[in-house]
Amino acid sequence: MKLRHLAAGLLVGTLALTACGREGAPGAESAGPTQTAAAGVTVEGSPTFAAMQQRGRVVMGVRNDQPGLGFQDATTGQYSGFDVEIARLVAAQLGFGADKIDYKVVPSAAREDTIERGEIDYMVGTYTINDNRKQRVSFAGPYYVAGQSLLVRSDDTAITSKDTLKGKKVCSVTGSTPIQRVKDQQLTEPENIVEFQTYSQCVDQLLNNQVDVVTTDDAILKGFAAQQPDKLKVVGEVFSTEPYGIGLKKDDTALRNKINDILEAAETDGTWKQIYDATLGKSGSPADPPPLQRY
Ligand code: GLU
Repeated sequence: MKLRHLAAGLLVGTLALTACGREGAPGAESAGPTQTAAAGVTVEGSPTFAAMQQRGRVVMGVRNDQPGLGFQDATTGQYSGFDVEIARLVAAQLGFGADKIDYKVVPSAAREDTIERGEIDYMVGTYTINDNRKQRVSFAGPYYVAGQSLLVRSDDTAITSKDTLKGKKVCSVTGSTPIQRVKDQQLTEPENIVEFQTYSQCVDQLLNNQVDVVTTDDAILKGFAAQQPDKLKVVGEVFSTEPYGIGLKKDDTALRNKINDILEAAETDGTWKQIYDATLGKSGSPADPPPLQRY
């Protein structure tokens, strides 16, 4: 919990610096270490890996509007952020360098479908591991732990916690765990729940006074707040645990084990920390990876 808060705080600092123009467009700052492609990799019994080898390329599912996590620079087209770097690390360790990577942007609600249909080899995009999703896909990881929080306009003093949302227009994303929690815990009335496909649409609505609050993982919200610190703020205690996993085909146990091995090695040899420090943790404070949940 503590580490998570630290990490989220760091993100604000990092992006605030960037927003001041120190390093260019928000999100473009987080180019991590370049990963060298491993040679002679085999993943015995993995249909996904066999398809990747056949194709000679990897197709990674990512996000494109989450600064610090998964972000595409509008000018350069470059992807950056912690999730993107984790995805690139996995690709490299499976034998696919930067020139062999295809990026596919997959919104929250489409993740299970997109994985099941084989349109991506794996998904790295603020993807909470849970039992419901495990019925359709499998997860390596976790490689990070976030928690649900609230984003409001800076001049808002009424919304301070999840218990102050009644009568407020609450925006979140279709198919996400945070919107499900708003519904399950009846944090506001059904008619006050506003759903979009992406968090940036919710943030636009918040800035335009169409909704009162955006709710999702703290790591995501702090990225948006850091882009417009004079207009937006993150408030309250986090009220869930969101362990981020790498989603892949349900039955591809061989690939899941291999990706867990890759994450474990990266955590041991300092690569995880290098990636973290270059993205979410850029201002230098430490964070540790959570223990893997192998199954
Ligand atoms: N981590 C949450 C989830 O997987 C929220 C973030 C997202 O929608 O990607 O649903």
